Amino acid sequence: MKRVFPFGDKLYTLSRADLGGYCEDNEPDKSPLEIWVNPRARGRVELEFFIHEALHAEFPQMGENAVQAAGEDIGAWLWQNGYRKRRKGK
Ligand SMILES: [Zn+2]
Repeated sequence: MKRVFPFGDKLYTLSRADLGGYCEDNEPDKSPLEIWVNPRARGRVELEFFIHEALHAEFPQMGENAVQAAGEDIGAWLWQNGYRKRRKGK
């Protein structure tokens, strides 16, 4: 069973699919909604995918250009300050 996470007043699950990143936001009868993150992304790129899609979920009215810029800025700042994904088993 997939873990569910709340953003705003909606629930989301994470799916890994090879289609870049995507956040559902216009499926009125569906809950939880889905966020997709490319399973091949690694390192800072993966971090930026997660931030980018979380911004879409949290702020559905925010435009793509603003989401893209904020995702890159926040990702770069976290990366510069040492945030890294822990590998399984460590
Ligand atoms: Zn986007």
